[in-house]
Amino acid sequence: MRKVYLDYSATTPVKDEVLQEMIPYFTQHFGNPSSLYTLGLEAKAALDKARAQVADLINANPKEIYFTGCGSEADNWTVFGVANALKDKGNHIITTKIEHHAMLHSCEFLEKNGYEVTYLDVEPDGTVKPETLEAAITDKTILISIMFVNNEVGTIEPIKELAAVAKKHGILFHTDAVQALANVPIDVKDLGIDLMSMSAHKIYGPKGVGALYMRRGIRIPNYIHGGAQEMGKRAGTENLPGIVGFGKAAEMAKANIDEHIKHCSELRNYLVERVLNEIPDTFVNGTMEHRHPGNANITFEYIEGESILLLLDYKGISVSTGSACSSKSLKPSHVLDALGVPVEMIHGTVRFTVGDFTTKEDIDYVVESLKEVVEKLRLLSPVNEEKGW
Ligand SMILES: *Cc1c(COP(=O)(O)O)cnc(C)c1O
Repeated sequence: MRKVYLDYSATTPVKDEVLQEMIPYFTQHFGNPSSLYTLGLEAKAALDKARAQVADLINANPKEIYFTGCGSEADNWTVFGVANALKDKGNHIITTKIEHHAMLHSCEFLEKNGYEVTYLDVEPDGTVKPETLEAAITDKTILISIMFVNNEVGTIEPIKELAAVAKKHGILFHTDAVQALANVPIDVKDLGIDLMSMSAHKIYGPKGVGALYMRRGIRIPNYIHGGAQEMGKRAGTENLPGIVGFGKAAEMAKANIDEHIKHCSELRNYLVERVLNEIPDTFVNGTMEHRHPGNANITFEYIEGESILLLLDYKGISVSTGSACSSKSLKPSHVLDALGVPVEMIHGTVRFTVGDFTTKEDIDYVVESLKEVVEKLRLLSPVNEEKGW
């Protein structure tokens, strides 16, 4: 049976070139980068190289890159670090209703500890208006965190404009760029970003490694306390093979970004076009204009996304409903809810994300399978009689 993976926003396979770079760091070059003999120094050199590779992808200085255990850790570190560092200045944080749970749940935790959080509304296309942000700022605001690209609907936020609002008011600006990295050109200096979260496993690197970009001059307390790793800011013996893989994935992403965006957006557009033309009562959520190149978030009216997912799985196709992180609960997507999608339509929504290994034949197979699956489910749907399918 054909296998088609259309869930690149949940995670990506590790590219072979990345894996090949990683392997020696499990065995031959297994040294601890903190050790002072040759084996350790070699490990330290590999760590420095990876730091430079990640920095290069976003136009940062290598000294501004701190490796973490994942993207979620980078989000948590930012929220708790800034909240702690600036507690004498204020207790108000601004974020949005469409953030990843790594951000939302961190903020909710702070709310239980005396902080106030404003969760900004988004426009029906998923974007945050700079005016909406500016109106929420108070003299107690210490952090503004707005994701770069949404993981469910792929909206690319106007980060430069939003960061400019933060700067005008002298407030730190963080962005969760886990979905944006390698899918949108990022220049942290040009965009005016103070802190930014990244993750390797969304860019064809390994799972279990992320990074926080922290602009030089920013000081927040450690989140993991212990040894002096990561310039004294993040303790724990480094996940060297993972970090080496992240570096290689970042280097490849930089070299391939134009080609990657073209490949993904062409296949994504082809998928959207075929689905909307060939399957009735379907629509796309979120703007098509400023969007993650691989993301198609489509509602199939009158049926359940979960059922579509399971029937597609029988055909070897992997897709998701909402984000991988919320798919284990039956709560309707908070992102689609914030976009104003009615709850019954949220339940009929599937997220497809294409990537570098997707082919046109894969999309054809998915569309043909979808036509069959959707028809089958609609025949079973209670609205069948009334619609006369
Ligand atoms: C995947 C994801 C995360 C979490 O990254 P991990 O490395 O899996 O912890 C955070 N934010 C967004 C937008 C994501 O898509």
